Amino acid sequence: MSSNLQFENTDTVLIEDRVFTPPKDVVGHANIMDYMKSKGFTDYAQFHQWSLEHRNEFWDDMAKELHWFEPWQSTFQWTDKPFFQWFVGGKFNIVYNCLDRYVDTSTWTKVAYYWEADDGSTRTITYKDLYVMTNRIAKTLQNVGVKKGDRVGIYMGLIPELVAAVLAVARLGAVHCVVFGGFAANALRDRMNDAQAKVMITADGGIRGGKTIELKKIVDEAVAEVPTMQQVIVVKRVGNEVPMQRRRDVYLHDLLATIPENTVVPCEPMESEDMLYILYTSGSTGKPKGVVHVQGGYGVGVYATTKFVFDVKPNDVYWCTADIGWVTGHSYTIYGPLMNAATSVLFEGAPTHPGPDRLWAIIEKYKVTILYTAPTLIRNLMRFGEQWPAKHDISSLRLLGTVGEPINPEAWMWYRKYIGANRLPIVDTWWQTETGMMMISPTVILPLKPGSATWPLPTIEADVVDRNGVSVGSDKGGFLIVRHPWPAQMRTIYGDPARYQTYWETIPDVYFAGDAATKDQHGYFRVQGRVDDVIKVSGHRLGSMEIESSLVSHEKVAEAAAIGKPDQIKGERVKVFVILKDGVAPSDELAHELKQHVRTVVGAIATPDELEFVPTLPKTRSGKIMRRVMRARELGEPIGDISTMEA
Ligand code: ATP
Ligand code: MG
Repeated sequence: MSSNLQFENTDTVLIEDRVFTPPKDVVGHANIMDYMKSKGFTDYAQFHQWSLEHRNEFWDDMAKELHWFEPWQSTFQWTDKPFFQWFVGGKFNIVYNCLDRYVDTSTWTKVAYYWEADDGSTRTITYKDLYVMTNRIAKTLQNVGVKKGDRVGIYMGLIPELVAAVLAVARLGAVHCVVFGGFAANALRDRMNDAQAKVMITADGGIRGGKTIELKKIVDEAVAEVPTMQQVIVVKRVGNEVPMQRRRDVYLHDLLATIPENTVVPCEPMESEDMLYILYTSGSTGKPKGVVHVQGGYGVGVYATTKFVFDVKPNDVYWCTADIGWVTGHSYTIYGPLMNAATSVLFEGAPTHPGPDRLWAIIEKYKVTILYTAPTLIRNLMRFGEQWPAKHDISSLRLLGTVGEPINPEAWMWYRKYIGANRLPIVDTWWQTETGMMMISPTVILPLKPGSATWPLPTIEADVVDRNGVSVGSDKGGFLIVRHPWPAQMRTIYGDPARYQTYWETIPDVYFAGDAATKDQHGYFRVQGRVDDVIKVSGHRLGSMEIESSLVSHEKVAEAAAIGKPDQIKGERVKVFVILKDGVAPSDELAHELKQHVRTVVGAIATPDELEFVPTLPKTRSGKIMRRVMRARELGEPIGDISTMEA
């Protein structure tokens, strides 16, 4: 028995019963509904069209809800196309908008983060606590010589000091460069060298799933080959003795000892276009790129999208499960929620430790109302079965979200049924490290369709086009592009502006970052995955994700990956790799059954020519399948950069 789930067969439009009453004590427009009304619209399609024609007005309105030291003179301008600027002449500091503007308001004593440690203990951090912590760390950074524009590496586990360190760096106008704490020494070294970082903030260790990760050891190995690095600041998290190199290494608590609680380091008034951070992409398709984001536009874009997509209300408890080492953590664990005065959960540990119900236990404990996670995690937890969420009262949830990959029908249905009690909306948000903010996503207004990220957010001129940039018809596959810059867009690739330009040159004059999609007659987008992952069999374009989904919908399959291999007759033929569920034995009969299964679910054209049972799949450390690595291995070609691959 298998479920044969496919979105195509469940094209029902789900109309959600949601409350639009704006809360009283919010700055600016309460939510997108409220904003639309203020412009005289009730229909999203009409409003979206208006926003394309009034792009500057929309973003001016959003920017005005934030604090600026000096107003901007020009909302948008091309400098030297494809280079551009937003809020030109404005002076801004994103951290002022995360912390300082709440001083002595009702938000001041509100919880900014509930931190859940790996062992289940809690630290509750109010906006005031975070402000104090950030200012004191900023002072220590100043004392060790960090100045505006300097690059500071951050490499540690998910502890409150990580958030404070990020904010402290940005407060001074320096540039943070967070590297996910799961990366090995080489990957860390290369990123620090690329960024020419001067100072590193790390911890004596990290704790995850009951195990200690020796972060300091990895830092020592990496930093030994980073000539620009002058100082390593170490947060005591584990309490182990770690080697400290004289002069170079110093404990944060020693530095803080001389810094009074009431220390204030004023936010540096930055030019809107000054650099805020460098962050390296996941590396699913190749060598990671040092994506550069700036203070003003990024701040405004992330602020507005958090507000509109999650419709955060004062009593919400919001949890984005992404690590701070990824862009989702930057935009939607730190900056977006803080600029919206939200209360968030920050979790240090592993989602399956001590049991596969850890996530659900945390939701129950903190009464989480909004959960934002990734398909890879849903698939992982799904494997253990629905009895695990059933053990917990997760009825506080009101909104679910996903990001990072196309969500397969099986995972969507499970998420909605067992986590969403069959009624909660799921916002499938499409965006990238390079876009800085969500680009295509449902908001409170649009009816949902399973498997669709729905419509572009206001002012986002997204389309599906052919190689020449011409729109393809409805339901035809093509390249997902955006026609005009948006505020939170990357400004360049650090040290490699030519590489940035290629984003605007592959398809003439539009932004294209490698994804394939379709758009239906109602304007709903479905992101199929990466263009490189599209398999062309006898002239038909098959998303690898479609084939993988059909396999995962089989009761014996835990995970699957599909690639195309050159074929003299068909152009490409399909090879699939399959991880079976625990306790299921591989056999030729099963292989045959699975191939037939794909044939029935997707169609004859997609029938795999080859099927291999494997114990694991190569993945990025953010959990995405690296199909390029599988392809290269299969064809005996050079594997390329694998620094981002899970060990
Ligand atoms: P690299 O660019 O280094 O190869 P990456 O593209 O995986 O790595 P990210 O910027 O972290 O790095 O991921 C963005 C990509 O994730 C998108 O381009 C898209 O392929 C995928 N993605 C993100 N959200 C969604 C979504 N909601 N639906 C489908 N795909 C998504
Ligand atoms: Mg990418």
